[in-house]
Amino acid sequence: AKEPARVLVTGAAGQIGYALVPMIARGIMLGLDQPVILHMLDIPPAAEALNGVKMELIDAAFPLLKGIVATTDPVEACSGVNIAVMVGGFPRKEGMERKDVMSKNVSIYKSQASALEQHAAPNCKVLLVANPANTNALILKEFAPSIPEKNITCLTRLDHNRALGQISERLQVPVSDVKNVIIWGNHSSSQYPDVYHASVVTGAGEKAVRQLVADDAWLDGEFITTVQQRGAAIIKARKLSSALSAASSACDHIRDWVLGTPKGTWVSMGVYSDGSYDVPPGIIYSYPVTCENGSWSIVQGLPINEFSRKKLDATANELVEEKALAYSCLI
Ligand code: NDP
Repeated sequence: AKEPARVLVTGAAGQIGYALVPMIARGIMLGLDQPVILHMLDIPPAAEALNGVKMELIDAAFPLLKGIVATTDPVEACSGVNIAVMVGGFPRKEGMERKDVMSKNVSIYKSQASALEQHAAPNCKVLLVANPANTNALILKEFAPSIPEKNITCLTRLDHNRALGQISERLQVPVSDVKNVIIWGNHSSSQYPDVYHASVVTGAGEKAVRQLVADDAWLDGEFITTVQQRGAAIIKARKLSSALSAASSACDHIRDWVLGTPKGTWVSMGVYSDGSYDVPPGIIYSYPVTCENGSWSIVQGLPINEFSRKKLDATANELVEEKALAYSCLI
């Protein structure tokens, strides 16, 4: 039998956390043969709710769940973890300036960086979900210099899955037959959902999404804005932000990173830019990646047309500005 993997979820008493922890305990993140020990962190005002989540995890009697650490102490939470999913963050409240939210989150991720760096297992893989996800991941990277930069990522898989879903609905094909969409850039409304390289698996081989949809106006307009604005549409409908889809895509992100992407398929992940596709180095930017043996690599050599180029640059510029804003909050 495999040794249990220790998986940290921060903000575990929140609504994404509530959807995510049972998925992890059921083996959806790391596989049905991988026992897990869940580490759940939240802040003291949420301690009682966190204990309630722990009680429900016990009551669900998950066979793969070998232990539960529920705590408000970051050191205890981070100790020995192999995977860290960072969901805890300060929400943007009405009337708050972007800089105020940024400054709260920058200080959270600065301190959690140290706890992870000092106490996590070597080679711990980190996924940032809390917004602003890309910039929080960058701050964590900066303040945890001994964690390899390849191990620090942010979530754009939800946006990726939303793009697959929109194409599936439009073409009335199963979502599992749609592949290789790309989310470029920031997990914000400046992201660029790109279907220039996407295809649908059919009985007669793979066909290009653009050819099958045959409606450039929709693909270059409404499709992009629907994916960019999907989070707001969910809030409007549910009166709460997306949680089950965010949790499910966090599982997809970690599963593919650890266990590998299927041959011929890429996924979108926010990773530390090395300048690929003429994106400025030194920001966390969402790229198409393939994963093998527990590490990701950026898919190289995709042709980028003028339409896409502008959108890749616009979302990169927003991230460069966010980085400057985050640094100004640190001073
Ligand atoms: P959620 O569980 O709904 O969301 C948590 C974070 O994920 C938010 O930052 C949210 O950003 C972000 N997020 C990223 N992608 C998505 C998406 N697609 N849909 C929705 N959210 C997304 O928030 P809750 O308020 O329910 O829970 C937050 C938890 O964090 C609470 O338990 C709280 O106690 C804890 N917390 C921890 C702090 C700390 O560690 N120091 C500080 C403050 C809170 P956005 O806000 O933009 O929706």
